[in-house]
Amino acid sequence: MAFYAKTIKLRTTSRLEVINITDHVEKAVEESGVKNGLCLVHVPHATAALVLNEDEPNLKQDLMRLVDELTGNSWMHNRIDNNAEAHLASILLGSTRILPVINGKLVRGTWQEIMLVELDGPRSERRVVISVIGE
Ligand code: ZN
Repeated sequence: MAFYAKTIKLRTTSRLEVINITDHVEKAVEESGVKNGLCLVHVPHATAALVLNEDEPNLKQDLMRLVDELTGNSWMHNRIDNNAEAHLASILLGSTRILPVINGKLVRGTWQEIMLVELDGPRSERRVVISVIGE
């Protein structure tokens, strides 16, 4: 059984942003040497998320609009830190994704790209931890 972990760092440039990280994850799977197992992708941040979906510009706009619709409410967290929407979107979208690795390849659908969602940017550094476990 092998365990491989890698952290990638990304800079974000706007408040809401969707960044395709599929190539980074596939590279990590290749580097791990794991042929059959699991790949866990995690963002260790409370105001970012990970989605597995189509990298299509209109859909990415729609996702950001959906997130933006959380704004304008009198969320309690805004009393101490004006970013309740970002936390809530992170909770709803999730910050971890697990994908199977079979025959050395990440198993994903044709329209499934792994994307980091920035919810409270811009940030000089966002980390994505990619772990691969298997044999
Ligand atoms: Zn906060």
